[in-house]
Amino acid sequence: MNEATVNITGVNRERLIGTDFFDYFTEPEKAKELYQEAFTKGSITDSPLTLLHRKGKLTDVLFNGSVYKDDHGNVLGVVIVSREIAGQKWALDLKIANKELAYQNDEKEKRAAELVIANKELAYQNDEKGKRADELIIANKELVFQNKEKENRAAELVIANKELLFQNKEKEKRADELIIANKELLFQNKEKEKRAAELVIANKELLFQKEEKEKREIVNKELKELNNTAKLDSQYTLSLIEASRDPLVTINTQGKITDMNEATVTITGMSREELKDTYFFDYFTEQQKAREVYQEVFEKGSVADSPLTLRHKNGKLTDVLFNGSVYKNEKGNVIGVVVVARDITDQKKIANELIEARVFAELATEIAEGAKINAENATFIAENAVKAKQQFLSNMSHEIRTPMNAIIGFTKVVLKTDLTTKQKEYLDAIKMSGDALIVLINDILDLAKVDAGKMTFEKTPFKMKSSIAAMLHLFETKIQEKNLRLIQEYDNKIPKILIGDPVRLHQIILNLVSNAVKFTTKGKITVSVDLLHEDTDNVIIQFSITDTGIGIPEEKIGKIFENFQQASSGTSRLYGGTGLGLAIVKQLIEPQGGTIRVKSNLNEGSTFSFTLGFQKTNTDAELENEIMELDSEIKNIKVLVVEDIALNQLLMKTLLDDFGFDRDIAENGKIAIEKLKNKDYDIILMDLQMPEMNGFEATEYIRNTMNSNIPIIALTADVTTVDLAKCKAVGMNDYLAKPIDERVLYSKIVSILKKPKLTKVNTKLNENREEKEIAKKKIKHTDLVYLNQRTKSNPKLMMEMISLYLAQTPPLITTIKQSLAEKNWTLLGAAAHKIIPSFAIMGMSPDFENMAKKIQDSAIAQEKTDEIADLVLELEKICLQACIELQEEFNTIKNTI
Ligand code: ADP
Repeated sequence: MNEATVNITGVNRERLIGTDFFDYFTEPEKAKELYQEAFTKGSITDSPLTLLHRKGKLTDVLFNGSVYKDDHGNVLGVVIVSREIAGQKWALDLKIANKELAYQNDEKEKRAAELVIANKELAYQNDEKGKRADELIIANKELVFQNKEKENRAAELVIANKELLFQNKEKEKRADELIIANKELLFQNKEKEKRAAELVIANKELLFQKEEKEKREIVNKELKELNNTAKLDSQYTLSLIEASRDPLVTINTQGKITDMNEATVTITGMSREELKDTYFFDYFTEQQKAREVYQEVFEKGSVADSPLTLRHKNGKLTDVLFNGSVYKNEKGNVIGVVVVARDITDQKKIANELIEARVFAELATEIAEGAKINAENATFIAENAVKAKQQFLSNMSHEIRTPMNAIIGFTKVVLKTDLTTKQKEYLDAIKMSGDALIVLINDILDLAKVDAGKMTFEKTPFKMKSSIAAMLHLFETKIQEKNLRLIQEYDNKIPKILIGDPVRLHQIILNLVSNAVKFTTKGKITVSVDLLHEDTDNVIIQFSITDTGIGIPEEKIGKIFENFQQASSGTSRLYGGTGLGLAIVKQLIEPQGGTIRVKSNLNEGSTFSFTLGFQKTNTDAELENEIMELDSEIKNIKVLVVEDIALNQLLMKTLLDDFGFDRDIAENGKIAIEKLKNKDYDIILMDLQMPEMNGFEATEYIRNTMNSNIPIIALTADVTTVDLAKCKAVGMNDYLAKPIDERVLYSKIVSILKKPKLTKVNTKLNENREEKEIAKKKIKHTDLVYLNQRTKSNPKLMMEMISLYLAQTPPLITTIKQSLAEKNWTLLGAAAHKIIPSFAIMGMSPDFENMAKKIQDSAIAQEKTDEIADLVLELEKICLQACIELQEEFNTIKNTI
């Protein structure tokens, strides 16, 4: 493996050797299959895999492999190039591969040089061996010759012996000759021994030569093997180069191509032969630049990642990164450059795709933003539409209710005249239809309010028992008409005064009781109110409305609380109604934390029961005697109606006439104020929208400029808007929704005029206390709560107390003023002292008491300052206002007893 393999796996070379290659991939099975495929097919290209570093880092690679073989064409293994897909790490790997290649070439050259030397040595040894062999042959021939000579001598010796024998006499003569001959023989023998010794040496030499030859043969064999390995190595290197998918080219110092791999052939479309010895820069689109780049390689030794473009002979262009490094001979002289032109087509494609993707993403973002803006616009439009719908509903209700008001009102008026039976019948029908229409309009308005999330719940103290009783009065006529009985069961354990929303409670009970009346033809309707739970601060009350009517089929019970749902399709035809009532009831109960249930048996009757929580209040128990019932006896009430529409004026006239009240009409606020200045009225019914001076402006003027606290009831057609809050803010006491329900109008007038004390208690305990307190301060300085408690609401006693105040205060104020002017300190001190307790009794602010105390102090100190003079003036104003208020209270109480 190369260093890149070590880097990418994090495993060193020693460890890598002998391990399974596929173990280093995230998908070992796939890797194994791939290189098996390389074995079977000879090569494999660009299979994507992921290498797994020992420390877990992943590297996406393209797996390229090709087999390498021995001389006989037997496959020895596979060279694999795992090309890193992302990043520039491949350049590093390539450099390493180049180095490795250079190193392998060096090694190869070394082995070849060694081989030449070894061959020379072998030749020399062979020569030597030949020489020795020749010498040995000569020595052998000599030996043979010597042996023959010996035999010759021996034969000569025999002859000599014979001669010796023959020449006994000659013996002595010959003895000398024999000695010589013996000596000669001895010499010859010695020579023979010498030759034998030489032969031994020659043999040893021969043996040595043989051993040497064998050694040479081993060396030869080793050399051959070495040669083979070198061949294999170069094969391996070649495979390595060929496995590279990037063009690899070597060029000489002239810039001419000396060698190249297959990728170069593929990318240029030229054969190896054509490429060889041509100028490398010829194959680039920018030849000058290419030339400069490889000249730079020669100068600097290497160059990395110079972008260039290769041109195929058919014109196809391939973007590459030009990497080169020089290679040298043994002496270190540069003999050429190895160039790897890294094909970055894929990379570029990916980069382009990335750019495209980014452009698309930006486009998508733009579109999304556009969509968002559209959605916001749509929301804005929708919100406006909701607002517009609400406004429309509110306007429409006003528009419809005003004429309806007139229709119903005048029908009633005509009904009171002499009529034929038929005429009466028709008019009754008109009135009934009108009533139904008004109920429908109110229901739709309520639903619109629920839809718009505008349904708000008040927290006002109210007397539950009397409030419910008064409301049930409304059904008396109807119940009598139908010959039914109304039974009220009220749990007396329920605290008398509770804090909650009486208007909504009325609306709920009204709906349920009117259903009970509508769907019952005989029997009774029972309204029971029970205390379910009580703790120190709260109570939970259960209200049940039971009838003996037609009942509701079981399968319909779940549906009737939905909008526009009736128990049967015939209901509307037979009994009227829209199916909205119960839906509204539910919307009024649940947001207040309550629940509603229904139990019903067909043809036996139904019970609708609901629970609601109320806050307890420790408002005085004395009030309990005061339960106000509708009092038809109240007369002599002077009402000022401020209303610009003639129809409504006429209607109000007929209604008030019916009640037996005195009434005056003013067309607008301005006229109303004029009338108020000239005549006393008990109560004002004030329309809001009028020309010249509207209801709000008129009320403001009455409260702030005229300093009058005469009760004012607003007549409003629009209960969904902010008008109600505005009514309170300018100091109106109550409001009535148009069309005016005569019973509600009556009870409101009566309750305001009859219960000034209770109104004030309520005001004080109201949630919007501060706001009301401000309104009250503007309009009222006195408050009869204390007096109420002291006198246990005894009207006579209260009147006596008020009379006393009215009698005493103006003279005291005069005395204070005069004594201050005269600096009569004793008198001033006494008068101030006398007036002080009256503030608390009449429920006036402690600030006023403190003002009087300051005046007293200045009397003691006997000094008159500007501040005291101002205080006296202020006190005069307040006390006179208090007198006016108390006079009114006095009148009211007087009227109620
Ligand atoms: P509406 O009375 O205008 O039809 P509601 O929402 O008040 O609409 O009532 C829905 C339906 O529930 C009625 O149409 C009627 O079928 C049934 N229902 C309500 N109250 C009673 C009752 N007390 N007795 C019998 N059926 C009732």
